[in-house]
Amino acid sequence: MAIFEKVALIGIGLIGSSIARVVREREIINNIAISTRSQETLDAARDLGLGDEYNIDASAIVHDADLVIICTPIGVVGKVLQSIAGNLKPGAIVSDVSSVKASVLEQMQPFIPDGVHLVPAHPVAGTEKSGPQHGFSTLFDNRWCILTPPSSADKAAVKLVSEFWQACGSNIEIMDADHHDRVLAITSHLPQLVAYNMVGTADDLETVTSSEVIKYSAGGFRDSTRLAASDPTMWRDVCLHNKDSILEMLTRFSEELSAMQKAVRWGDGEALFEMFTRTRNIRRDIIDAGQEVDTPNFGRDQK
Ligand code: NAP
Repeated sequence: MAIFEKVALIGIGLIGSSIARVVREREIINNIAISTRSQETLDAARDLGLGDEYNIDASAIVHDADLVIICTPIGVVGKVLQSIAGNLKPGAIVSDVSSVKASVLEQMQPFIPDGVHLVPAHPVAGTEKSGPQHGFSTLFDNRWCILTPPSSADKAAVKLVSEFWQACGSNIEIMDADHHDRVLAITSHLPQLVAYNMVGTADDLETVTSSEVIKYSAGGFRDSTRLAASDPTMWRDVCLHNKDSILEMLTRFSEELSAMQKAVRWGDGEALFEMFTRTRNIRRDIIDAGQEVDTPNFGRDQK
């Protein structure tokens, strides 16, 4: 049986379109309404057959929606909510998918009308691609979805949003928005910034030609370029909206890097060996937790 009668998806990029696909495929919600900023993306969503209803005006699709999920970049979530707030149905649940939560909670809370429930969510799943054509229905399978409801949140609404994400394939964790931002700063935001930095460093090198960088990229560099190809808007917003936690993790990272630099300079093989052994165990734990496959080369086709 469907969990909700109607969902309104505002923003239909990688995440919004993946939600639309899994909802349709697993019959989680009967009616899918879609709105997005540009006519071009709305037409693409229609051509892909992602929804039952399409409207460039977000406020026109929310009046009878039981669940509204804002799937836009982090920086505009509050503005989008403000534009639809007057049309929300009493008892509706408003959620989002943003990768940063404290700022989003702050943006959204002032615009939630009485009788409407706010349950922010972050599906910790994605790829470096953007746009509705790149979504897929299994994106959330066996991935965590973190809910960060405000302390005053309606328990029944939190339960329904949990059930919704479980039906989409996710495991649920509920945590405080600030804690979420600290955890994700180390597991997601720092690696992303390191990748941007590493690829940028190679791009700046004058003694190694760019064709050599491309030709010999089979090392760790190639895997960093996947991250570094991610959407600049999304990652700009992550940095602007999770500033404190990211700065803290960057400081810790710089300290670790200095220690490594010192070990390399002084030929301290013991320190290097100890460091590399510790990190190897972390990968083992991630594989054991089912969050990575234990095949060489990330399971990539060797061709
Ligand atoms: P995306 O593929 O780039 O799609 C973004 C959607 O938001 C499009 O429908 C776009 O509309 C709309 N949009 C862009 N700028 C807007 C603006 N200024 N005002 C209103 N709408 C705007 O992005 P995505 O990867 O799905 O990411 C969406 C959210 O999911 C972000 O908050 C991100 O933090 C979160 N998230 C992403 C990932 C990931 O790996 N990508 C993972 C987890 C969570 P038009 O195309 O019509 O302009």
